[in-house]
Amino acid sequence: MDFKSLAKEYGTPLYVYDFDYIEKQFNSLKEAFKARKSLICYAAKANSNLSVLKHVANLGAGCDCVSIGEVKRALYAGVAKYKIIFSGVGKRDEEIQEALKEDILMINLESEEEMHRVEMIAKELNKIARISIRVNPNIDPKTHPYISTGLHENKFGVDLDSAKRMYIYAKKSAYLDPVGTHFHIGSQITDINPFKEASKVLADLVRNLKSLDIEIKFFDIGGGIGIRYKDESTIQPYDYVQAIFENLSGLDVTVTCEPGRFLVGNSGYFLTKVLYEKRNEDKRFVIVDGAMNDLIRPTLYSAYHEIELVGSNNEQISKADIVGPICESGDFFAKNIELPQTKHNDLLVIKSAGAYGFTMSSNYNTRGRAAEVALQNGKSRVIRARETFEDMIAKEVPYL
Ligand SMILES: *Cc1c(COP(=O)(O)O)cnc(C)c1O
Repeated sequence: MDFKSLAKEYGTPLYVYDFDYIEKQFNSLKEAFKARKSLICYAAKANSNLSVLKHVANLGAGCDCVSIGEVKRALYAGVAKYKIIFSGVGKRDEEIQEALKEDILMINLESEEEMHRVEMIAKELNKIARISIRVNPNIDPKTHPYISTGLHENKFGVDLDSAKRMYIYAKKSAYLDPVGTHFHIGSQITDINPFKEASKVLADLVRNLKSLDIEIKFFDIGGGIGIRYKDESTIQPYDYVQAIFENLSGLDVTVTCEPGRFLVGNSGYFLTKVLYEKRNEDKRFVIVDGAMNDLIRPTLYSAYHEIELVGSNNEQISKADIVGPICESGDFFAKNIELPQTKHNDLLVIKSAGAYGFTMSSNYNTRGRAAEVALQNGKSRVIRARETFEDMIAKEVPYL
């Protein structure tokens, strides 16, 4: 990839996404599912740029959304409404109303109280709400605590007994149609066993419900497939899918999955230019024009991203912290990594930045968000223009 030309053409800091890679990842997963009915609902929160959503929609994906804003993005980008799932622990009444009016595939319930609100709102609208229930199977995904979601100590989903009660209630309700069951136990999971265990728990639940005459059609296994940032061993799509399928014998369900990071994580590159180098005593800092407002993962999750100095043959290598211009000590991309000596305007590429990069960006320190560029079939195009000062102040009302 010619990062230098991209930086020259579009400026820095810059996000670049390889759309061909996203397609390859999508197809590898779809292929692994081919022995059963399946639906891949891309988790929009990983990277919700409209072009990315349109790209996956064109490949046949649906969307897993966690706000009505994401639902609207998905619809706007051309994702079929019957492939959209609305998840999340705290849906507002207006969000539920809109989701029901849009007639999306299903609303994924995360509490008993939420079920009653959805029922009430469906009644007001005289609609039948298709629902699934997010079960928290109390399984440790062995990932970073901030991205672990399937333990009872996490706020997500309901326990198995509550889920059963909810299904029985929903079945009797005139305004609820329980069509799905769901788990999502965490993100960046690199061990297949938590998926195996969770799908076994949920498959048993589906059999149990069947004996109560409650037919579950969608078996949603969430997202969470880990990717390689450094040297992680990753799960192969085929093994992942087999681990699920082996628990589903005798069940006629559409297996739904919600990959975010797996589809887009390694498609993304964040390009940033060196401004200065400085030393405080023995400590070397490389100060770049990107910052934590652009990519917060290193700060938020102590996440590792591989960083490379583009096109350098400087052999003078030493340890450095790569930091941004923001007034926070937490504003770093890496600490104590080996990097050749740099000079003003040298280019760094930060890899695996396609997921939870731009979508977590902010205007902190009144820094405009970076531009985003897609690479497809050897061509590049802007899919989001760089934010200007005027964009940032557009909603504000100065006291005059
Ligand atoms: C975040 C999330 C996903 C996607 O997780 P990845 O680790 O990016 O695959 C899927 N489903 C739900 C409900 C989520 O909250």
